[in-house]
Amino acid sequence: LDHLPIFMALHGKTALVVGGTPAADQRAGLLARAGASVRRVAAEAVTAADLTDVVLAFVATGNADLDRLVAGWARAARVPVNVVDRPDLCDFIMPAIVDRDGVVAAISTGGASPTLARLLRERVEAALPARIGDLAKFAARFRTAAKGVAHRMRFWERTLDGPIGEMVLAGRAAEAEIAMRASLARGDDGQGVVHIVGAGPGDPELLTLRALRLLQRADVILHDDLVAPAILDYARRDAELVSVGKRKGRHSHKQDEINALIVEHARAGKRVVRLKGGDPFVFGRGGEELEYVRAAGIEAFVVPGITAALGCAAATGIPLTHRDLAQSVTFVTAHGRDGEPDIDWRAAARPGQTTVVYMGLSQAPRVRDRLLAAGIQLSMPVAIVDRGTRPDQRVSIGTVGSLPALAAQHAGGGPALIIIGEVAALASAGLPARLAEAS
Ligand code: SAH
Repeated sequence: LDHLPIFMALHGKTALVVGGTPAADQRAGLLARAGASVRRVAAEAVTAADLTDVVLAFVATGNADLDRLVAGWARAARVPVNVVDRPDLCDFIMPAIVDRDGVVAAISTGGASPTLARLLRERVEAALPARIGDLAKFAARFRTAAKGVAHRMRFWERTLDGPIGEMVLAGRAAEAEIAMRASLARGDDGQGVVHIVGAGPGDPELLTLRALRLLQRADVILHDDLVAPAILDYARRDAELVSVGKRKGRHSHKQDEINALIVEHARAGKRVVRLKGGDPFVFGRGGEELEYVRAAGIEAFVVPGITAALGCAAATGIPLTHRDLAQSVTFVTAHGRDGEPDIDWRAAARPGQTTVVYMGLSQAPRVRDRLLAAGIQLSMPVAIVDRGTRPDQRVSIGTVGSLPALAAQHAGGGPALIIIGEVAALASAGLPARLAEAS
């Protein structure tokens, strides 16, 4: 350790800032935020007497000789001094700071690279929940009340890192308050928590910040086959990964088994993430799982994800609505619980609409037949997007007439969507950029 990281109380104390540079302004602003009274002196006016009765000094005059002179006065007066961009003249250095409403992280590379410190700060920013400050205040309010609880440290760990903490972080303060009072009254029940999390269409960069944070804290992750392997790389190293995928022709878990597995892990006190492709509430059975887990008396939360239609649209340049071409967009599935689903094909066949068909590839001939019977034009554009947003994404553009042949070309690929409507013809707009990049 080259420096001692400390947090200094400055309320009611005076700190000196010398110079009128932007760096000096920034230091003065920070000092004021930390409650110091700031003595601001211009470079032309500074004297050794300015160092009387100050606890800290920042120097940024923009003049190297003057900087050194003032630093010398500070040292003689035993006032710790920081000279901007002159580590050799500094008694202390300034960290990169993350301030989330009172929860503060200070990052330093010991002066080796301020840029690296800033990059690290961005990562810390991304990793810190937006409401972490609320959580700190919440904990402070119950600190006295929790004094008498047995195993106090473990109690706090479970509170802040468990369902109650999640409620606060999700902005459900009133609920958290009630749960906290109940928890204080009964002590700890040792139950885990379940998050039903949308993993998005495949590209890990499309995870939400909350999904990423939960992946990095989960004890157990129960995931579908649909979840791209690149996303599982973001899981905590020692998390238990369980594939409960439903893939044709392979052993796979039935929905009842999945439900039972989720509850079993939660009852064992684990933080369970049920990770699903796309969004859990769009053709994802997230609703059934949520109901089951809550009925078992276990805290459960849902984290939305980018559904395949939105991911594929963005990745291929197909705007799902368009002022001239599409006034509405509808997501339908080609697979129902009991055979063919009941879909309003006449609405889908009308011009000026976009229809996105999930799980439709193997049903392509029937989709075409239904659309034609409902009066759609044979030449209506369609696009098939296969493994959308993934590195091996494939896109084909055709018409309703050629849909079965187009689908056959994609057989054996990954998950695929069919997009029907005038906007599908715009897919090419998204492609040249990729091709241009490759050439
Ligand atoms: N809950 C998911 C959908 C699950 S149903 C979501 O919101 O996206 C499974 C279907 O989703 C697949 O058959 C396919 O039609 C579609 N799908 C999922 N990921 C996809 C991807 N990366 N590219 C294209 N289609 C995808």
